Amino acid sequence: MKRFISSILCAVLIITALLSLSSCNGEKSKTYKTRGKTISYVYFNTESTLTVLGEVSDEDFNSYVSEAESLLSYYHKLFDIYYDYSGVTNIRKINQGAGNGTPIRVDAELLSFLEYCKELFTLTDGKTNVMMGAVLKIWHNARENAADNPEAAALPSEEELKAAEAHTLIDSLVIDREAGTVYISDPSASLDVGAIGKGYATERLYERLCEMGANHVALNIGGNIRTIGLDPNGEKWQTNLTNPDKSSAEFAAKFKLGQTACVTSGNYERYFAVDGVNYHHIIDPDTLMPARYFSSVTVITEDSALADALSTALFCVSYSEGIALLKNFSQPIEVIWIDNDFNIASTSGVEFVE
Ligand code: ADP
Ligand code: MG
Repeated sequence: MKRFISSILCAVLIITALLSLSSCNGEKSKTYKTRGKTISYVYFNTESTLTVLGEVSDEDFNSYVSEAESLLSYYHKLFDIYYDYSGVTNIRKINQGAGNGTPIRVDAELLSFLEYCKELFTLTDGKTNVMMGAVLKIWHNARENAADNPEAAALPSEEELKAAEAHTLIDSLVIDREAGTVYISDPSASLDVGAIGKGYATERLYERLCEMGANHVALNIGGNIRTIGLDPNGEKWQTNLTNPDKSSAEFAAKFKLGQTACVTSGNYERYFAVDGVNYHHIIDPDTLMPARYFSSVTVITEDSALADALSTALFCVSYSEGIALLKNFSQPIEVIWIDNDFNIASTSGVEFVE
């Protein structure tokens, strides 16, 4: 049973509140209308929120919410590897056609996304590889089996993983931009875009809301944070970083964000245990095992898709290799690493609070 999969994006809660915020220059306090909507996005086994802080009309707010729903639902279907949807040629369809030699016509949007995934493979030195489906499937099945029957939880065998590794070549994903087609040349290879898809969808929603004139917005799409503008006082947003050390304080740190994206990859949410050891869902392409360097890595940079891909990649390399990897990028990137003893390291531009 694939427990976390559902094909629908459903609205579960609408929060409307009046919030009093004091302006920081000592003027008398102002009242802002705060609107938030929480949506449950079950494919990612996680919740998403769209919050507008500041004056916003009902009409505008409702149009942002409906845009978010239709756009996220579109990408959800497009990136799904488990389900078909009528009228949608999605990643699952591409996977199903692997090796049959027939190019598949896809939306220009899916084509651009897959081209970007290939670019990110190169930029991350192959650490974030969307063609790792064959290996990720094995880990996914092990996790599902463990969830269904914890007593029988078992690790995949090394032989099985090694055999699958032979089918993870990025070049087996063949994209023909002019023809608008995609296919996978290796019948045993498959796409899994879990490391980038949410961030990419978040960035497209950010762009759309900007076009619609939205401001003072914080999106949290299953942990992918994307802000539009600053808060209504013109101050940076304050964010809490989840503490991977569950026996300690809820938050490991607090820091400020301007208009940017912020994504965390961590080992503390999706995992299964074998003989008292936890095995999580981010797989080091070199060892084919869950990466063991950190308990979380957070990336702050302008583009949410890049932040998503990079948080996965940096999770799969040591601190020094990560610092070297950042040199592949020209844009400003800030990183917070939390190691397995819960020590925090960061690049110099992270604006910690306190
Ligand atoms: P989350 O999905 O928890 O936000 P990530 O963005 O790091 O975390 O993505 C993890 C997902 O990406 C996994 O569930 C799996 O589907 C896929 N994945 C895991 N390891 C890799 C990897 N090295 N390269 C590409 N995809 C990966
Ligand atoms: Mg990621």
